[in-house]
Order: sequence, then C-alpha cells, then structure tokens
Amino acid sequence: MASMFTKARKRLKAAAQHLDIAPEVVEKLSYPKETLAVSLLVRMDDGSRKVFKAFRCRYDDSRGPTKGGIRYHPDVCMDEVMTLAFWMTFKCAVANLPYGGGKGGVKVDVHKLSNAELERLSRAYIKAFASFIGPDRDIPAPDMYTNGMVMGWMVDEYSSTVGYPAPAVITGKPIALGGSLGREDATGRGGYYVTRHLEKELGLAPGKSRVVVQGLGNVAFWFAKLMAEDGYTICGLSDSRGAIVDPDGMDPSAVAEHKRKTGRLDGAPTKGKARMMTNAELLTAECDLLVPAAMENQIVEENAKDVKAKVVLELANGPTTPAADTILNKKGVTVIPDILANAGGVTVSYFEWVQNKAGYYWGVDEVQRRLKEIMEPEGRLIHRLARDKGIDMRTAAYVHALDRIGKAVEAHGTKSFFAG
Ligand code: NAD
Repeated sequence: MASMFTKARKRLKAAAQHLDIAPEVVEKLSYPKETLAVSLLVRMDDGSRKVFKAFRCRYDDSRGPTKGGIRYHPDVCMDEVMTLAFWMTFKCAVANLPYGGGKGGVKVDVHKLSNAELERLSRAYIKAFASFIGPDRDIPAPDMYTNGMVMGWMVDEYSSTVGYPAPAVITGKPIALGGSLGREDATGRGGYYVTRHLEKELGLAPGKSRVVVQGLGNVAFWFAKLMAEDGYTICGLSDSRGAIVDPDGMDPSAVAEHKRKTGRLDGAPTKGKARMMTNAELLTAECDLLVPAAMENQIVEENAKDVKAKVVLELANGPTTPAADTILNKKGVTVIPDILANAGGVTVSYFEWVQNKAGYYWGVDEVQRRLKEIMEPEGRLIHRLARDKGIDMRTAAYVHALDRIGKAVEAHGTKSFFAG
C-alpha cells in the first residue's frame, strides 16, 4: 500500500498541472529538505531508563523558517511526520505566512507517563533537537497530546540551552511565557471567518442552514459556538464515544458544559428531541454543512456516497481520504480543504512569533482583526481560482500555495535546487 507521504505528494503533481512551473521546483518539493530521527533516553519515575523514538522534519524553507507542531502518539513515525510537514508547507503558503513547513513527533502513549516523566521526555526532545530548531530556523508548536504546558517546558529547556530567553522558538506557549491572546479559539474562528465570508456562494445562510460538527474539542467547540451565535442551527456534535443529534438545534456551550460535568454527551440539553448515534452515522446525517473537526480519515470511500451535506469544511487535518474526495467531488459537494479551513491556528501562532520578536503584545481584538484580514481574502482567492479553472477547492488551494512556494524557490536562484 502507498505510504501516507506518497499519497499526500500526489497533490503536488496534480496542482503543478495547473501552473507554468519549472519541473525542478516540483522535484525539489517532492522531498523533505531535512529530517532527523533520534532515540531519547528518558529516566522513568522508578529509576529505570526507557528509549523513545523522536522525529522532526523541516520539509521546505523557501518561504521562511519551518513551522509545525510536535505530536505525541503511539503511531508516530517518520512517514507521518513528513506528511504533516508537507501539509504545513502548503498551509503556511495558503495563509501567506513567511514560513515553510515542519513537523515533529514522539512515539509515545502519554497516558502511560506521569507528569514528571512527560516533562523529562519533553526536555530530552529539545536537548536532542536544539540545533535543528530555532526562532529563525524551525519553530515547533503543540499538536496531538501536547499542549501549552509541554511548550512551556520546551521553551524553558531551549532558553537554558542557548543561555537567554528565546520565546520565539516555540508557539502555543502559556500567556505568562509570551503566548498570544486569541490562540485558543483561532482555528475554529478561522474556519468560521471563511465560512461566513463565502456563505452566499456556498448556499448557506444563518437561520436556514443546519450544521453537523464531528468533535467537541478545541476546534469543534469554538467553530460551533461562533456559528450558533450567528444563527446557524447546530444539529450534531460528537466525542470519541458517539454523537448527539437534534434537528431543532443545540447550544454548543450548554452541551460542552454537560460533557464537562458528566463526562458524556448523553442527556445534554438541546432545543428539541435529541437522539444519540455513532460517529459514523453522524457523518451521513441530514445537514447542509458537515464539519469534521476531530481526526483524520473520517470521510472514507465507504461512507462518502452517503454524505448529505452540500458543503464539507475540513477543520481536522486530513479528515477526507483521496478516494472519498473523488466521490464527494463527483456528487457536487464543495469541500473546503484543511489547508485553508484550519489555517487560523498557524496564523495566530505566527502572530505569537511576531509579538515575541517585537517584544510588543497585542490585544485580542487586534489578533482577531488580523486573523480575519488573512482568512477572508485567502478563502475568496481560492474559491475564485476553483471557479475560474473549473477545479475543486482542494486542488485550487494547492495551486494557490504552490504558485507562492514556486516563486520563492525560483527567487532563491537555481543554486537552491541543487545545494538544497
Ligand atoms: P482536541 O483534542 O481538543 O479534540 C479532539 C476531539 O475529537 C474531541 O472532541 C474528541 O472527543 C474527538 N474524538 C477523539 N477520537 C474520536 C473518534 N474516534 N471519533 C470521533 N471523535 C473523536 O483536538 P483539537 O485541537 O480540537 O483538534 C481537532 C482536529 O483539528 C485535529 O485533526 C487537529 O490536527 C486539527 N487542528 C487543530 C488545530 C488547533 O489549533 N488545535 C489547528 C489545526 C488543525
């Protein structure tokens, strides 16, 4: 079976067909610039030592330092890290951030570690990758099973290593260490700005359209909350165990509060008669807008034909497989791709880095205004490009990004093709 990276790379070839771009540029972007795999030796609480495999990939830095999160998960491998770094390269270009793409990961089940072990593992990661990352080289951030606390340990370790405070080396930090206001809701908010900006063209409207959101985590919650506040009917939400659905709608804050108190969605207050269903059933439930906002590979070949929504907004990374994507396109479903839909997160991470470098911090209104000023025009450009070229929005997003990356590669001169 083709690796995840081999599949992801097909997007590059497909986008290149719509551009007058030098073959060397496509060749250069077909491979990561640098990867590093290490074994971290970490002391456990019982005094024993354990090895954890750790990875980092700087996929392409033609447009600036590489940027991307660090994932802690038992399935992490170099193929996945390279794929995520490839996606970050294109996502940063979609949002026109002066960044290339990177990603990192540790093969670990965090549930099996104490907090102290997690801290030693995170510090070991930074010691091992201290010369690979850097505020002007490669800037990590949180990803699955890493958070602000982990970033706090990491920035502390990096600063001790270089001998001065270096907040700009990592984003997604706690506010007390130079984190940005407005980061928490940035990804959901970015998707909300794009949706509302294009709603007429997408055939959506507050007061009329029904929205199903898979997930109730950070991204799903903020998106659902903002849409509900504007009059959209949120008729489905879910967690890892299942989904709650009510065609009359629900208040995401009330559902989240119920989940926080009871640990479950069952029994959450809704406007009409709620029923529970599986996550698989949720994806094919009646709605106008379907928003996978939990994890990858959710809309697959087997269920794509049954999707009822006319628009899919990919807030999760890679929620639609390529085979499912083809089916949705044939059905006439508009898919707003992840590299546009969830780019709000990395955009506010960029704002955090800018504020760290300037040593001057913005209010939340400024962060949100600037986020809107990026998400709306980039969404509009990609929508227009798709319409003008008669291609789907995912291909259009890749074309739009590749055009920017290609120009940067060319501007560096041919030396960079060969010398890397
Ligand atoms: P999170 O951990 O806060 O929430 C994840 C949600 O997924 C939870 O509601 C959880 O219950 C649900 N879930 C877990 N397993 C599931 C399953 N098997 N089926 C259905 N739902 C399941 O994570 P998040 O930060 O909200 O991220 C969600 C997605 O968005 C991920 O794909 C992530 O890569 C992507 N993303 C996040 C950000 C960000 O800023 N947080 C930025 C870009 C992309």
